Amino acid sequence: MSDAYVFDPAVRPSVAVAGEARRFPVRRIWCVGRNYAAHAREMGGDDREPPFFFSKPGDAVVPSGATIPYPRQTADLHHEIELVCAIRLGGADIPVERALEHVFGYAVGIDLTRRDLQAEAKKAGRPWDLAKGFDNSAPITEIVPAKAHPARGRIWLAVDGQVRQDADVSDMTWSVAEVIAHLSASVRLEPGDLIFTGTPEGVGAVAAGQTLTGGVEGVGEINLILA
Ligand code: MN
Repeated sequence: MSDAYVFDPAVRPSVAVAGEARRFPVRRIWCVGRNYAAHAREMGGDDREPPFFFSKPGDAVVPSGATIPYPRQTADLHHEIELVCAIRLGGADIPVERALEHVFGYAVGIDLTRRDLQAEAKKAGRPWDLAKGFDNSAPITEIVPAKAHPARGRIWLAVDGQVRQDADVSDMTWSVAEVIAHLSASVRLEPGDLIFTGTPEGVGAVAAGQTLTGGVEGVGEINLILA
């Protein structure tokens, strides 16, 4: 029992790092909406709107290989496969040309979404928080420290072996560097922040008992079972 707090603070959430015993301590999880043109169109949007952001709690991370319970209060859980950027160096108003210096590495994540709650929120003009930031909503692989910054490569997701999302990270509307520049103009980024950089087209529902597999070429592969 600590003397400083009225109860023991939670252990800081963290993500494994490839080739390294030490873990990446997670601070916040930022997510980009509609960052692939074909997905923006399937969600009813325009191709060229500026990036917008939402967040999930840092403790929503779940390691690849986990089995998670089908989330409560939804009948329409959707998968969104995403390239995730992990921040090692904080900053505000980071210029695009310096943005990649702030990156520790990359991972593959799934932005799990309670699409029915999101649709209700959109219709009522309410926040997306509970549609996006629920328990276990941020499955993620180990982080690969950045030697190169993935500008192209296949990004895909399959449900029970059937491919649903299949695109290329070069299809991103706003690059990782541009996303960092935009986001840091709005909030000061801090070491430990994760940025889910958006999903390509082909999002859809996943049911209890199904297995998700996916990946980003050159970064990694993720597996997740829904109980
Ligand atoms: Mn997403």
